[in-house]
Amino acid sequence: VELPIHEAVLGRAAEFGDHPALIDGTDGTTLTYGQVDRFHRRLAAALADAGVRKGDVLALHSPNTIAFPTAFYAATRAGASVTTAHPLATPEEFAEQLRDSAARWIVTVSPLLASARRAAELAGGIREILVCDSAPGHRSLIDLLATTAPEPDLAFDPAEDVAALPYSSGTTGTPKGVMLTHRQIATNLAQLEPAVPAGPGDRILAVLPFFHIYGLTALMNAPLRKGATVVVLPRFDLETFLAAIETHRITGLYVAPPIVLALAKHPAVARYDLSSLQYVISAAAPLDAQLATVCAERLGLPPIGQAYGMTELSPGTHVVPVDRLHDAPAGTVGRLIAGTEMRIVSLDDPGKDLGTREPGEILIRGPQVMKGYLGRPDATAAVIDPDGWLHTGDVGHVDEDGWLFVVDRVKELIKYKGFQVAPAELEALLLTHPGIDDAAVVGARNEDGNEIPHAFVVRRATAGDLTENEIMLYVGERVAPYKRVRKVTFLDTVPRAASGKILRRQLREHP
Ligand code: ATP
Ligand code: MG
Repeated sequence: VELPIHEAVLGRAAEFGDHPALIDGTDGTTLTYGQVDRFHRRLAAALADAGVRKGDVLALHSPNTIAFPTAFYAATRAGASVTTAHPLATPEEFAEQLRDSAARWIVTVSPLLASARRAAELAGGIREILVCDSAPGHRSLIDLLATTAPEPDLAFDPAEDVAALPYSSGTTGTPKGVMLTHRQIATNLAQLEPAVPAGPGDRILAVLPFFHIYGLTALMNAPLRKGATVVVLPRFDLETFLAAIETHRITGLYVAPPIVLALAKHPAVARYDLSSLQYVISAAAPLDAQLATVCAERLGLPPIGQAYGMTELSPGTHVVPVDRLHDAPAGTVGRLIAGTEMRIVSLDDPGKDLGTREPGEILIRGPQVMKGYLGRPDATAAVIDPDGWLHTGDVGHVDEDGWLFVVDRVKELIKYKGFQVAPAELEALLLTHPGIDDAAVVGARNEDGNEIPHAFVVRRATAGDLTENEIMLYVGERVAPYKRVRKVTFLDTVPRAASGKILRRQLREHP
C-alpha cells in the first residue's frame, strides 16, 4: 500500500462525515469522522507552522483519549515520526526514550505534564511541549486548531519514511525503538483486514493502550479506516469496561489474556447486558484454550479468536478470521495472512526446517517486517538474517491445515534436566485451579544450580489456606514428571506490562 498512514487510515473520513469516529467512554464526548478529518489537517498545518519538519520525532505521551488519534495523524501528516510513550513511564524512563529516539517534540496531557517536563529536561533536545487539553504556559492542540497556516504539502516516500517508532514491550530486555515505515503499517492493515471485516455499524472498545502497537493497529488504525466507532477508555477497570459494553452496544472486543481471565472468572460479568458482542479477539501473550472456552461460553459468544504478532512485524502475521471462529482448532493463534511467508526451524539446528506439529522457532518474511531497530544495526542484524527472515524468538508449530500454535518464547523455556518446559503451559494449568486467581511461572535455580519451574501464585481471596504443597500436587497429577512445579511463591499481583504480558524478568529477580 503506497499511501502515508494518515491517508491509508483517514482517506475515507470525509465521506463518513457525521458518523461518530471516537466516543469518550467516561463522559460520552464524541468526535465525528468529519471532525477528525478537519482537525488532524488543521493541526498538521499548525505543527508545521510551529516548526515540525519532515523526519522530526514527536513523542506522543498520553493515555487513551479521543484526541490521541487526531494528534497521531496530524503529526504524521506534518512529516513527523511518532514515538508513542507509556503514560505511566517514570520521567527517567521517558527521558531514555526521548534521548534514544532523538525526539524534538512532545505532545502530552495536563496530568502528565510535570513528568513530561522533567523527562524533557533530563533528555535535552526538546523544542516544545504541547498539551492535548490545556495547561498554563503551554500551547494546546485546541489553541492550535485556530491556525490559519496552510496545510503542509509534503512528498512522502512510504517505503522509506518512518511513520511510527513504537518501543517493544521490554518483556525480555530494554525496550527497543522499532522503525516502522508508512508502507509497512499500511500494508499490514490491508493484510489483516479480510480476517476481521469492520464497517460503520461496528463499535469497538479501546481499552488496551493506543501507544502499544497492538492497540494502535486494532483499536485505532483498523477501525478508523473502515468507518467503525471507537469507544475509548483510559484504563482497564472491569466494571467500567462492562458498563461501556452495555451502554455503547459494543460489537467487537480486542483484548489481552488478563482481560479474558477477568471475563471468565469475575462474578460482575453476569450483571451486565453484553448481548451486543459478536466476537472477542485476544493477542499479545499466550492464552490458554480452556480459559478461552470458559470465557466465550460465559459470554454466549463464538470461541475467542487469537491473533499473533510483534512490534517488529507492524505487528500482525496470524489471525483467526471471524468467519472461522467455529472451526478453528482450540488454542490456535490463527493462519498466516496473505503476502507473508513463515518457516519453523529447529531450535538445535537453526538451518533445519521442521514438519507439521514439530515445535521450533517461528521465522517470518514479508512486507511488514520492520525497517530495523533505531540506532542498533547489530540488534537488527541479530534478528533479521541476510535473506530477510525475521527470527521471532517464539516457539511454535503448525498443523496440517496451517493453523499456528505458539508454545512460548525461546528464551523463556525452562530446561529441566534436559527437557524443555513451557511456562505458558504451566500457567494455563494453574489458572484452572479454582483457588487460583492468577499465576506466572519462571525458571529458577535450585541448590544444585539446576533450572526448575518456579510458580508465582495469586490466591483467590476465599482460598487463603491453599498451600504450596497442594499446588505442586495439583500440577503434578496433571503433567509429565519433568514439568512439575518445584517451587511456589505467593504474590498479591502478577507484574505485567501494559500490553498484558507477564514481566517474568521481574519475577526472576524476586527473592
Ligand atoms: P521485548 O521484545 O522488548 O522483550 P515484547 O516481545 O513483549 O518485548 P511485543 O512486540 O509487544 O514486545 O510483543 C511481541 C511478543 O508477544 C511476541 O514475540 C510473542 O512472544 C508474544 N505474543 C503476541 N501474540 C501472542 C499470542 N497470540 N500468543 C502468544 N504469544 C503472543
Ligand atoms: Mg519482542
